Amino acid sequence: MLEDRSSILRFEGTDVHAATREAPSELERIRATLALVPPDVESLLEVGCGRGDLVNRWAGKRAFGTDLARRALRHVTRPAFASSIFTLPFQDGAFDAVLCAETLEHLEPARLPEAAREIRRVARRCVVITVPWQENFLEWSHRCPKCGQVFHLHGHRRSFAADDLKALFPGARAYHIQDTWPVRAWSPALLRFRTGTLGLWKHTRHTRCPHCDNDQFANHEGRFLYKAVGALNDLLHPAKTRYRWLMMRAEF
Ligand SMILES: [Zn+2]
Repeated sequence: MLEDRSSILRFEGTDVHAATREAPSELERIRATLALVPPDVESLLEVGCGRGDLVNRWAGKRAFGTDLARRALRHVTRPAFASSIFTLPFQDGAFDAVLCAETLEHLEPARLPEAAREIRRVARRCVVITVPWQENFLEWSHRCPKCGQVFHLHGHRRSFAADDLKALFPGARAYHIQDTWPVRAWSPALLRFRTGTLGLWKHTRHTRCPHCDNDQFANHEGRFLYKAVGALNDLLHPAKTRYRWLMMRAEF
């Protein structure tokens, strides 16, 4: 669910997630997210369902999806509606559970409480939220060679810790927090050295600068220095102590 028009077009015009959809980490994300939905839930709404990777796989019968990206909704095998996250077309408490995965980080930070209130409004029993785990933006950023702007490759606007998620959904009788898919930490100094000093940035296919619309980006990931800085960081951080995803179920 993206509220910024250029981001929607970017996601609609390209199959931006196709390459990662079958990755082991992605399959684990899908499994872990769906496992957070209580087994006795009878109706589920996924807000920001995209192509339906989650809602299509949920085992329950009454599942629905919403997203702003109409083209993505064609891939959803459940009833799906084009809708803003801020005005969901459902009555209060219409669903036992409302799921919103990898979506809140794309929203304008000032409007997050408004989005959370709307998710909570249509949820009767619980909400399940997933976001990137305490994301360091430099790790997933690129500097546009044309205009010089540094931007997040997936358009993320803010990072979250567990308390940030809880604060968006106050008053729950229980919070279940889960850290999923351990990864190595990046040394902030090494990351600044690789990006700012060496000018070597992470790459994805279909990168498009949100400021000047440039879509010509070199892939630095095969360069010797890119790999060398990564290997040095692996030596500094042999254990995986960070996580890819932060997941929360709040029960009301
Ligand atoms: Zn640019």
